[in-house]
Amino acid sequence: MSMFHSVKRFLLIDIIKGMALTLSYMFRRRVTINYPFEKGPIGPRFRGEHALRRYPNGEERCIACKLCEAICPAQAITIEAEPREDGSRRTTRYDIDMIKCIYCGLCQEACPVDAIVEGPNFEYATLTREELYYNKDKLLANGDRWEPEIAANLAKEAPYR
Ligand code: SF4
Ligand code: SF4
Repeated sequence: MSMFHSVKRFLLIDIIKGMALTLSYMFRRRVTINYPFEKGPIGPRFRGEHALRRYPNGEERCIACKLCEAICPAQAITIEAEPREDGSRRTTRYDIDMIKCIYCGLCQEACPVDAIVEGPNFEYATLTREELYYNKDKLLANGDRWEPEIAANLAKEAPYR
């Protein structure tokens, strides 16, 4: 057999093997998903976009203790606060620079009232840096939007904290 015929034979065998492999995968369970139309499961400890939570009566949970601001290793949180007429303390400013944030979760761990949390949302890419400077309104709106998921995740995680 000439060298040309040997090469041709090996090529043909490789093509047949490749096609058989392709066909075999057509009948196996899919391991990829059609993102963004399909989304994979996310664990209750997933550290996504930040949110500020409220109590069921609508009152802000945050008591302006500033523990989250103090513990943040990236110095991404800026809080200003003053007492209300009833003597309670609430923030007048709560900003997070999401570009500085390293998603360590320490702000959430430090918070005594589960006010600041990292929620399940991971789809918040923006076109400008400015959109990633979150203020209190944005964080509270995130909390309102994701509260059912956040509360369910915190309940699942509670036995391990
Ligand atoms: S997740 Fe970490 S880095 Fe980000 S704001 Fe919280 S404490 Fe700071
Ligand atoms: S979010 Fe929590 S830790 Fe941060 S200031 Fe408010 S109550 Fe304190």
